[in-house]
Amino acid sequence: MEKTASQSKELFDQACTLFPGGVNSPVRAFGAVGGDPFFVKEAKGSCLITEEGESVLDYVQSWGALILGHAHPAVVEAIQQQASRGTSYGASHKLEIELADQIQKLVPSIEKLRFVNSGTEAVMSAIRLARGATGRDKIVKFEGCYHGHADSLLVKAGSGAATFGVPNSGGIPADLAQHTLTLPFNDVAKLDALFAESGSEVACVILEPVPGNMGVIHARSEFLKQLRELTQKSGSILIFDEVMSGFRVALGGAQEHFKIKPDLTTLGKIIGAGLPVGAFGGKAELMDQLAPSGPVYQAGTLSGNPLAMAAGIAALKEIQQPGFYSQLEALSDRLEKGIRGAVESSGRSWQVHRLGSMITLFFNEKDPQNFDDVGECDFDLFSKYFQTLLQNNVFIPPSQYEAWFVSSSHTVKEIDKTIGLTQSFLQEV
Ligand SMILES: *Cc1c(COP(=O)(O)O)cnc(C)c1O
Repeated sequence: MEKTASQSKELFDQACTLFPGGVNSPVRAFGAVGGDPFFVKEAKGSCLITEEGESVLDYVQSWGALILGHAHPAVVEAIQQQASRGTSYGASHKLEIELADQIQKLVPSIEKLRFVNSGTEAVMSAIRLARGATGRDKIVKFEGCYHGHADSLLVKAGSGAATFGVPNSGGIPADLAQHTLTLPFNDVAKLDALFAESGSEVACVILEPVPGNMGVIHARSEFLKQLRELTQKSGSILIFDEVMSGFRVALGGAQEHFKIKPDLTTLGKIIGAGLPVGAFGGKAELMDQLAPSGPVYQAGTLSGNPLAMAAGIAALKEIQQPGFYSQLEALSDRLEKGIRGAVESSGRSWQVHRLGSMITLFFNEKDPQNFDDVGECDFDLFSKYFQTLLQNNVFIPPSQYEAWFVSSSHTVKEIDKTIGLTQSFLQEV
């Protein structure tokens, strides 16, 4: 791909007069890697087609929403059929029940759920529910875990065990941020210390059980076990944010993979197959605290949207086909092994993390365990790698702090091309 192809450049210039930074979501602006973003005309399977008509192999896959690849025929057909029957009812319909029933069967910790329109909304609502149900204000999150852009969650720790939160965005009242306690991921000692001191004030602990929003980080099993135990003892609610990992790392999500049952789960991305949808659910007695059956208010004009439900039902049907996850695992494993091989033959020890079809190559020779470790990566080298891949029509997320996604529409040939490019890049630097 030409570095700044003409049509895309023109469109981006125009977009910059219309949208802050030229985009409707910040990371699309290529801020971390430099250069202008390309514009997408259409997409099919593993590839995006740019306005210039170039086919780009896509490992972003709408940031993990598309496990089947772009414009999967079954999803497209479900959307087309539903569109002619109406796009929003503002009243109950059968597709809501059908998708909820599927989700409940596949993720048994979800006894009852509610549909919303995005992952952010799911998390925001789950936190409100946890606070309402416990009568407590404090929430605990981990540095580098992203849970959408709700006020309470855009908070990052200073140093120290559990500092009172300092917002890492403008526009967040300090009075609100002080209720968010942050800890480093995977740090059992600091978790113990926080609960020893203020466990009885903690409404909930939220985490990405498979962090993907600081690149793929492996959760230590003793860390997850301790989280479950401490929250149970202190009457705090454990929320697994599976907006990314749900139906991605296993059919039953991270909770199936790790065999840990959270009290609440948030979902998004894959359950909408590329349409705007999120969900949160868990223990029935907890979910019944929501309006109209309980005192915690939550609502949405487009929630349970029939187009989104139809797309989700079609996607969940596809991923339950026999062999779906083993085929995806084989592709992802091939990519991981190939990249590891390329790293080894370059004589360096850059770290590769993968769980299921989420993968990150960290330009760090020390194995990253948390957000601070990721901060020690060679970001210049990452940018060069990103640009080299893009010049060869391979698109990975434009930040070291992200996971790449393999979809079921990627081919062995495409995986091998990616490995080959990585090999020659690493030989040259
Ligand atoms: C993407 C994501 C969100 C936010 O979802 P949106 O649909 O972008 O609002 C929340 N949590 C996790 C873990 C995510 O990956």
